[in-house]
Amino acid sequence: MKYDKMSEMAKEFINDEEIVKTLWQAQKRAEDQQDVKEIIQKARSFKGLSYTEAAVLSYVEDGKLKEEMFAAAAQIKQHIYGNRIVMFAPLYLSDYCVNECRYCGYHASSCMERKKLTQQEIVQEVRALEKMGHKRLALETGEDPKNNTMEYLLESIKTIYSIKFDNGAIRRVNINIAATTVENYKRLKEAGIGTYILFQETYHLPTYEYMHPKGPKANYEYHTTAHDRAMQAGIDDVGLGVLYGLYDWHYDLVGQIMHAEHLEAKFGVGPHTISMLRIRDAGDVKKNDFEHAVSDDDYKKIVAIIRMAVPYTGMILSTREGGEYRDSVIKLGISQVSAGSATGVGGYTMGTQKPQFEIEDHRTPIEMTKELLKSGYIPSFCTACYREGRTGDRFMKLAKNGQIANICGANALLTLTEYAEDYGDEEFKALADKVVTEQISGIPDDKVRGKAMDYIARIKAGERDFRF
Ligand code: SF4
Ligand code: SF4
Repeated sequence: MKYDKMSEMAKEFINDEEIVKTLWQAQKRAEDQQDVKEIIQKARSFKGLSYTEAAVLSYVEDGKLKEEMFAAAAQIKQHIYGNRIVMFAPLYLSDYCVNECRYCGYHASSCMERKKLTQQEIVQEVRALEKMGHKRLALETGEDPKNNTMEYLLESIKTIYSIKFDNGAIRRVNINIAATTVENYKRLKEAGIGTYILFQETYHLPTYEYMHPKGPKANYEYHTTAHDRAMQAGIDDVGLGVLYGLYDWHYDLVGQIMHAEHLEAKFGVGPHTISMLRIRDAGDVKKNDFEHAVSDDDYKKIVAIIRMAVPYTGMILSTREGGEYRDSVIKLGISQVSAGSATGVGGYTMGTQKPQFEIEDHRTPIEMTKELLKSGYIPSFCTACYREGRTGDRFMKLAKNGQIANICGANALLTLTEYAEDYGDEEFKALADKVVTEQISGIPDDKVRGKAMDYIARIKAGERDFRF
């Protein structure tokens, strides 16, 4: 097998030999401070880094150089997306699963009662999420062809989009479900999904096979080529994910960036989002049993390097990471966070099911958004791009040249005003008002600024759902 980023075969576009060689060379290059500095400098031009360069940065241990990397990552995020942080919440539909993933509490042989939400229960859960102000969901299900059928999922998406509660509405439904066929991806596209997210977990084949001893997910080739099938089906916003700590994180980092390079080379559109989870306790699964578990320091490097290597991508941080530490990671290039998350089926209103994994950040969306405002970010409930048809290469073009930041900024102020009006307490309203007043004058385009001011006045008068 040789490395070929245009290949249709997973073992060629994620090539083990190439990764091993890259890591070996990177360790040597990382000792050369000048080389490292030049790579950081290149990243500062917002053009991204190759997996080879990213690998070099992954071995940097010098404190000063690491600080330079962190500063570069923060600067890149600011340039591409501005200071907005998009908010979302997961919604677990079903914990039925036929796979035996060793790191997940839902694995098939786990002694737990299974549950799948009825459409009525979905309404109940979504009403609770809308009451928290959420507009963007990530749907989660285990893999079970009998219980979690495509028909069930499509019906659930329809239900979710149909629920309007007070001023609440779910405006974008992203999907995190098992690898499937082009035909099924087409049906998901027709149902109006936002991003299709699929976690690779690990790119290291022997580890992948060990971690997935049974069930359809055991098929590395089928799983790793799923994003290609989704793109062939016309879903042009896809999300990559790694569960860091299953194998040497340097290897998985290079694999994840190789995957991004493959999608970009083959389809002209790189990953819309990248997620980087870390192992957590999950039912009978204990994180301390994983020898490759990633330290806090190394996790920060992973986040910063991905931001430098794939500057245009949305980077997602979950509530797996604890409050204070999470805030320090957000600085390094995160553009989306979950808040108020329940990681079990029925977790928002029933609370009877085991969560898929333990979360460490228990702040409510209002607490989280207040903290973000106080730290100089704009929490955003924006879903505009997908609804305006700015997906795939249209979105990428704007993200790569940094123009999206202006659109994000204006939309963040509109959705923040909506959120403050509908869900904010007095303290929140005062904080939001201050930020909106300060930031609106910074919108560079006269026309957009004028329109944004008009929209904000109209939102305060009771109208909703304006967007650029
Ligand atoms: Fe099932 Fe997903 Fe958990 Fe694996 S990670 S056991 S596929 S729910
Ligand atoms: Fe996301 Fe587009 Fe809204 Fe920016 S404008 S926050 S990229 S949906």
